[in-house]
Amino acid sequence: MHPLSTTNPGNMIIFKTIAPLREFLDRNRNHGQSIGFVPTMGALHEGHISLIRQSRSENSLTVCSIFVNPTQFNNPDDFAKYPQTVERDIDLLEAAGCDILFLPRQATIYPADYVAPHYELGYIESLWEGAHRPGHFQGVCQVVDRLLDITLPTHLYLGRKDYQQCMVIARLIELRQLPVILRIAETVRESDGLAMSSRNMRLGPEERQTATNIYQVLRFLKENLRAGETAPVLREGKSMLESKGFVVDYVAIANARSLEPVARWDGREPIVALIAAHLHAVRLIDNMILHEA
Ligand code: AMP
Repeated sequence: MHPLSTTNPGNMIIFKTIAPLREFLDRNRNHGQSIGFVPTMGALHEGHISLIRQSRSENSLTVCSIFVNPTQFNNPDDFAKYPQTVERDIDLLEAAGCDILFLPRQATIYPADYVAPHYELGYIESLWEGAHRPGHFQGVCQVVDRLLDITLPTHLYLGRKDYQQCMVIARLIELRQLPVILRIAETVRESDGLAMSSRNMRLGPEERQTATNIYQVLRFLKENLRAGETAPVLREGKSMLESKGFVVDYVAIANARSLEPVARWDGREPIVALIAAHLHAVRLIDNMILHEA
């Protein structure tokens, strides 16, 4: 049992402002409760819920936030069209036994006197998502920094689906010297392999079928990569996507720890395949570990 929280499905507490949430969490923290935190942008799916479940299994209290963070969108249209399904999200969170939902307004996270810090993320910000979405990771750090400062969790839950984001948040935790344990959960996929994503809701039926090719190409890379040059297999993977109508931002093989591109693989280095591609108006990303250390 969780003495100072409501853990029965259906008893989730929703906070929209900071002070009462802080007060509630402080009270629980002072009673030695561990707090698991799952930040999201809503339009929840089984991938998000897997994070809630993992947090519940490891903490006395689980907090989820839903906030579509404007500062991490470099494309205004993507922000405007980001799916919002709050009522359904609340039902899903209650059914999963989430204890607390933080549902702030924009002015709560970014009050008029908010000054955006600059985060020294280093070279990782210049790679892949950083290169294709200027400012994106600064925005991600802004919101996560604010949310961690508000919730002060003992454990933070992120999904491997956003591989580079996990590395950026690890860096933020280091920069801020936060006493939080980062847990990274495996990517939850649809039965045909497509990584679950809120943006999948924006795909039409035909696009939804086509979208599974991202997973197919990741599998192709895993099955066909041999020690030596990576360019040939990457070229093939890219053209597989292009032949299905994708506009590809990158199909890459990178060091699984540094994310630096790997042009020649020695057969031992830990590597990850990363893909970002547009299917008409929807941008999808996915990744797969090809070789573990
Ligand atoms: P988002 O709402 O897209 O910002 O995602 C919130 C959190 O859920 C992030 O840590 C994501 O990496 C994670 N997440 C998103 N999709 C998945 C998935 N398919 N499997 C596991 N985690 C996911």
